[in-house]
Amino acid sequence: MPLPRHRGDLLLVALVMLPLAVALPRLGLPGSVAEAWLNWLGRASGILGLTLMLLAAGVSLRVPGFDRPFGGLTRLWRLHHWLGFTAFIMVMVHVLALGLAAVPVSLAVAVATLFPPLSQGAIWFGWLAWVALVVFLAPTFGFFGKPHYQRWKHLHLVSAMALLLGLCHALLLAGEAWLWWLLGIAGLGAIAWRKGVAPHRRHPYRIEDVVPLARGVVELVLRPEGDGIRHEVGQFVYLTPLDERLAAGRGEEHPYTIASAPSDTRLRIGIKDLGDASHALQTVTTETRVLIEGPYGEFFGRRFPARDMLWLGGGIGITPFVGGARGFAAGADLKGHVHLFYLANSPDRAYYHDDFCKIAERVEEFAYTQHYYRDHGPLTEAFLREHCPDFVAREIYLCGPPGMIAHLQRLLAGQGVPASRIHSEVFDFL
Ligand SMILES: Cc1cc2nc3c(=O)[nH]c(=O)nc-3n(C[C@H](O)[C@H](O)[C@H](O)COP(=O)(O)OP(=O)(O)OC[C@H]3O[C@@H](n4cnc5c(N)ncnc54)[C@H](O)[C@@H]3O)c2cc1C
Repeated sequence: MPLPRHRGDLLLVALVMLPLAVALPRLGLPGSVAEAWLNWLGRASGILGLTLMLLAAGVSLRVPGFDRPFGGLTRLWRLHHWLGFTAFIMVMVHVLALGLAAVPVSLAVAVATLFPPLSQGAIWFGWLAWVALVVFLAPTFGFFGKPHYQRWKHLHLVSAMALLLGLCHALLLAGEAWLWWLLGIAGLGAIAWRKGVAPHRRHPYRIEDVVPLARGVVELVLRPEGDGIRHEVGQFVYLTPLDERLAAGRGEEHPYTIASAPSDTRLRIGIKDLGDASHALQTVTTETRVLIEGPYGEFFGRRFPARDMLWLGGGIGITPFVGGARGFAAGADLKGHVHLFYLANSPDRAYYHDDFCKIAERVEEFAYTQHYYRDHGPLTEAFLREHCPDFVAREIYLCGPPGMIAHLQRLLAGQGVPASRIHSEVFDFL
């Protein structure tokens, strides 16, 4: 479970416990006899399961700023996954414990408890919710291989169905109707907002330029049509291209980090060919429209820390650091020294190298070192110490592919850097 570290986490913990606390006077304390204890467990886990499901839906609300008390949208997504997974476990315990509690009376009673006559609609609503949950979670857990991302997103509507059916089950059986109405409105409201309102609140931009950076990597320069968005360094947006001629990804939203300085009214976005949609964008036509939603994320927080920083960026994970360095070049306030290590496979894959060299020449507090895997192998403590002797004492930011992040986290932990001083972002949601 992600540890409570942010303001939003405390609210979430309180909301998880609320329905159980409100129901306690009705439930009483767990009995000492096994059947009574199982019965209590079955009811309590049912309450917790539905609460967690509704909160998982609630935190999927995508409104710029909502993610920040939770440590940014990528962390909020991890919380969403954790809540959904724990809800499923609770629902399983709910069914199992209630069935087992009736076994000592007789097997027939246990079966009748779980599968009563159809006239007892409340229980069957619960079963339908369970089926919807399983239909949604089977591909989520990868039972049929890695799911197609966009199809999996559409399948989320089945999870909304599970919520609705679960609510009917609780409203017909449980005593605390007001609480379920409240949580139900929060959970289903968040889904309705995502599907119905959010798509109409995106900002229109036009593609002004498509700059090739390397094989399979371009930078899109986007000009706002209207006000545009305001962002901070390290944040990302959802980009939806509308170009009719695109071979794939038209109308699909994908997250991309903003690589321009916050003071730049144009948005610059580096896009690496990693699949259908990002491949098609390599040849997108200029002057076509895209929709931008956001910004989201909390990679650097609201402002840089008042201490020296070490930035380690690899692959397309270099983009938040491009935005940061461009910000310094544009005169952004720097409270300490920044040392950026660009971890690329070889010089031809260090596609922002020239930009960084120019910025390091102009900005005294910004140092830049490139590290090529082809020549040096994985980054080592010795390499870091040679170029940045005080790296252990700095605030450290990592962005790149999961394997690189795991390697760097091990390396830094081995040097005694506390986890609280290491901030990382992985470009993968699943
Ligand atoms: C916070 C964040 C910032 C990112 N910034 C950049 C960036 O600056 N430049 C860049 O090139 N890439 C970035 N990415 C990755 C980019 O979102 C994916 O490469 C892109 O969505 C792939 O889509 P596709 O259809 O081309 O490939 P697919 O083959 O469809 O997807 C490849 C993988 O990308 C992930 N993915 C696909 N669609 C989405 C989606 N809508 N939301 C989340 N993940 C998805 C999934 O894990 C999927 O398995 C970022 C990702 C995240 C989460």
